[in-house]
Amino acid sequence: MYDTDVLIIGAGPSGLTLAASLVKMGIATTVVDRQPAGANTSRAAVVNARTLEVLDDLDVSRRLVKEGIQAPRFTIRDGRRTLIPVDFSVLPTEFPYSLMVPQATTERLLLDRLTELGGTVIRPKTLTSVTQDGDGVTAAFDDGEAITARYVVGADGIHSTVRKQAGIGFEGGVYEESFTLADVRLRGEAPVDEVILFWAKAGLTVVAPLPGDIYRIVAPVHDAPDEPSAAFIQQILDDRGLGAGRMIVTDVVWGSRFRIHHRVADSYRAGRLLLVGDAAHVHSPAGGQGMNLGIQDAVALADALAAVLAGAPDTVLDDYSAARRPIAQQVVEMTDRLTRLATLPRALRPIRNVAIGMAGRIPPVQRALAWRLSGLVYR
Ligand SMILES: Cc1cc2nc3c(=O)[nH]c(=O)nc-3n(C[C@H](O)[C@H](O)[C@H](O)COP(=O)(O)OP(=O)(O)OC[C@H]3O[C@@H](n4cnc5c(N)ncnc54)[C@H](O)[C@@H]3O)c2cc1C
Repeated sequence: MYDTDVLIIGAGPSGLTLAASLVKMGIATTVVDRQPAGANTSRAAVVNARTLEVLDDLDVSRRLVKEGIQAPRFTIRDGRRTLIPVDFSVLPTEFPYSLMVPQATTERLLLDRLTELGGTVIRPKTLTSVTQDGDGVTAAFDDGEAITARYVVGADGIHSTVRKQAGIGFEGGVYEESFTLADVRLRGEAPVDEVILFWAKAGLTVVAPLPGDIYRIVAPVHDAPDEPSAAFIQQILDDRGLGAGRMIVTDVVWGSRFRIHHRVADSYRAGRLLLVGDAAHVHSPAGGQGMNLGIQDAVALADALAAVLAGAPDTVLDDYSAARRPIAQQVVEMTDRLTRLATLPRALRPIRNVAIGMAGRIPPVQRALAWRLSGLVYR
């Protein structure tokens, strides 16, 4: 006898999506998280069209759409000049836009849905080790308790204990530059329906709308402060040609700094241990793919686990790994290209912008970017 069929370690967006999907299918599922409460930071700000499509079955998309802002356009710009316009509004989907919504809201709505379906998250509870044999897995926790399960899923983020315990490699590296991130209030010209990547000579800056008249600013900087001030963010906007009356920062609501890793797990499966989300892949937030990919992994893994628990051969779980891992590799490559282009040496940036401007006038290039950024290419 097992305590549960599926034990999920981690209640971030990936773990919550997996849990709600499994509970909806009537599968005995236990979720634990080491944090006493859900994180309340905005981190991932973009929910893409493909994620909304896969969350529709769970009845979460309409709730997200109610709380988010619809941004049907994404542009790469150099000052006032548009280099590449990307139009999501023409995509063949029920959700032809990027939905701008803070990660804390996405997690709250996923948790609400899990609770409605009869599930819960046990917290704080920290996994310390896992052992498996042919029949099942025993997970040990910091409070001395052990839980047995048929399968254990590591949805436990970049430093995944499940991945380490499974002995799965996590190849890749870390970018040299640090990034500053701030959710700010602005005066001036900032559109509410568009995500903009400014590629100024002085460096890249992302300006993206969030609910509540807030804008997300992200920029690579040499030595980003732990908590950026309004003056610091204003200086970045001024240096990169976005200040001078165009965008005036009046208030920083939340800010952070981060380094970016780019890594993909060697496999998403080792016997009865499985990985989803950041535990399996991390990459640059350029293109806003991280959380989206994790949620999409979780929906695919829920179907695979349901099939195996209903008697399908467990090679279905290998299929899950084989199907999802190349997608993460593609996203790592795409975001790597975007990040490297954005952080090119200063002298090369004008040439880069000319080349990007020329490519950006080609409609198939615009279309390919729209399909990729919206995630629809991974259908
Ligand atoms: C500053 C910042 C900005 C970002 N911006 C974007 C963005 O714009 N777009 C985007 O798509 N993504 C962005 N991301 C990435 C995004 O936040 C992650 O991809 C997403 O949170 C991954 O979800 P997850 O559920 O896989 O993992 P996580 O959200 O990391 O959740 C893992 C959970 O596991 C729990 N846990 C860990 N170890 C244990 C343990 N041993 N026992 C029990 N519980 C454990 C943790 O407490 C946590 O709740 C950003 C990240 C950061 C840090």
